[in-house]
Amino acid sequence: MGILEVKDVGKRFGGLKALSDVNLSVAENTCHAIIGPNGAGKSTLLNCLVGKLIPDTGSVMFDGQSVLGRSPHEINQMGISRVFQTPEIFGDLTVMENMMIPLFARRDGSYRLHAIESVASEKDLTQQAEQMLDEVNMLDKRHMHSASMSRGDKRRLEMAMCLIQRPKLLLLDEPTAGMARADTNNTIDLLKQIKEERDITIAIIEHDMHVVFSLADRITVLAQGTPLVEDTPENIKGHPKVKEAYLGE
Ligand code: ADP
Ligand code: MG
Repeated sequence: MGILEVKDVGKRFGGLKALSDVNLSVAENTCHAIIGPNGAGKSTLLNCLVGKLIPDTGSVMFDGQSVLGRSPHEINQMGISRVFQTPEIFGDLTVMENMMIPLFARRDGSYRLHAIESVASEKDLTQQAEQMLDEVNMLDKRHMHSASMSRGDKRRLEMAMCLIQRPKLLLLDEPTAGMARADTNNTIDLLKQIKEERDITIAIIEHDMHVVFSLADRITVLAQGTPLVEDTPENIKGHPKVKEAYLGE
């Protein structure tokens, strides 16, 4: 039994079947990649896991509990954090100010900034944020205006904002999309480090096969809303169905 169990999930948008009969089991403390062509339903699936979309059929269990019927915030509190396809940071705020947002959210269950009870607790939160920024090599950028940073740094910040919540499951939707090669390699290194140092399960949607093969323990290939095959990276590489449907060979 995996930490994440998706059973027979289906989702329609009007006449379009975006997902059908999706079954997926993600084992605890592994990295599971979901690959597939554009429009395969990868982001839709992720949205169903975090409460942004409600599947029409099937079930989604995380850590033995159903996520269906829960709000994105409740699911986040259960231990699922997600990095979006386009970075969702607050460009007008500094790096440090962005880091405080998930900390406040965790403390009082809302995003109200007046949650600080005392100067001492604010100091404690600042320390936590600085420590996390140090882990992702961004401490020197803590006073920077977030909007002015590179795409790679925005991603790093977003990942730090997720990780500071100490999630059990980290979901990443194309974390290296549009990144320069150096930033992509930094992201691979960061994720490898996270995997080694923490009790964390990672589910990653990714186009870049170099990233997928560097990180994944298992790979699910999604095509037209349905899993085509699930296997180890070694077997996926040579799989005739995958070559045909995805790698275009
Ligand atoms: P992927 O992330 O694999 O590229 P998506 O999950 O974004 O694919 O999309 C799967 C299919 O569902 C696509 O045909 C897309 O156009 C459609 N789709 C996604 N979101 C919506 C939506 N909110 N409303 C209508 N159609 C959607
Ligand atoms: Mg997508």
